[in-house]
Amino acid sequence: MGKDLAKVLISEEELQAKVRELAARIDADYVGKDLLIVGVLKGAVMIMADLARAMHLPVQMDWMAVSSYGTGTKSSGVVRVLKDLDTDIAGRHVLIVEDIIDSGLTLSWLVNNLKSRGPASVEICTLLRKPDAVKVPIDVRYVGFDIPNEFVIGYGLDYAERYRNLPFIGTLAPHVYEHQGE
Ligand code: 5GP
Ligand code: MG
Ligand code: MG
Repeated sequence: MGKDLAKVLISEEELQAKVRELAARIDADYVGKDLLIVGVLKGAVMIMADLARAMHLPVQMDWMAVSSYGTGTKSSGVVRVLKDLDTDIAGRHVLIVEDIIDSGLTLSWLVNNLKSRGPASVEICTLLRKPDAVKVPIDVRYVGFDIPNEFVIGYGLDYAERYRNLPFIGTLAPHVYEHQGE
């Protein structure tokens, strides 16, 4: 796995410190409220697990899986629900937990979808945000790191379903892309 990696962008220690900081902010903001955190599969698995364990509020956890139609690596904003929530969110405070916002198209669709179900509130927490996200008019309350426009892997994020289990965020060496499909 080591030879596939170009560089470590965010270390395990930096990730864990940031997750604790986000958890403390969320705890403070939702004190006295019944919070449901919604992880977007599969990328948000690591951030959800670490965030929830770092929080003190007795949160409820649920999951959604969505797939975004698009060409190559760009998402189109046309979204299909692969797994919906098990929870009725009417009247609930909902916090969407995402791994990364790039174009923001997937997330903006998701926010609108959840808002149509009559929740008390919908906010967003994302571990990573790329520069293009500024083009989308969605209000992201909790952001872990603003990163450059590079393809990143690890801590839930995949390249061809691999590297999700890395405990840090890194970038791939060019030879991994060059040998794509072999
Ligand atoms: P958006 O609709 O914001 O363009 O797409 C967001 C989704 O694209 C993320 O949830 C993630 O699955 C994928 N994505 C965007 N940028 C990256 C990246 O740098 N690395 C990985 N592994 N996935 C990414
Ligand atoms: Mg995601
Ligand atoms: Mg992916």
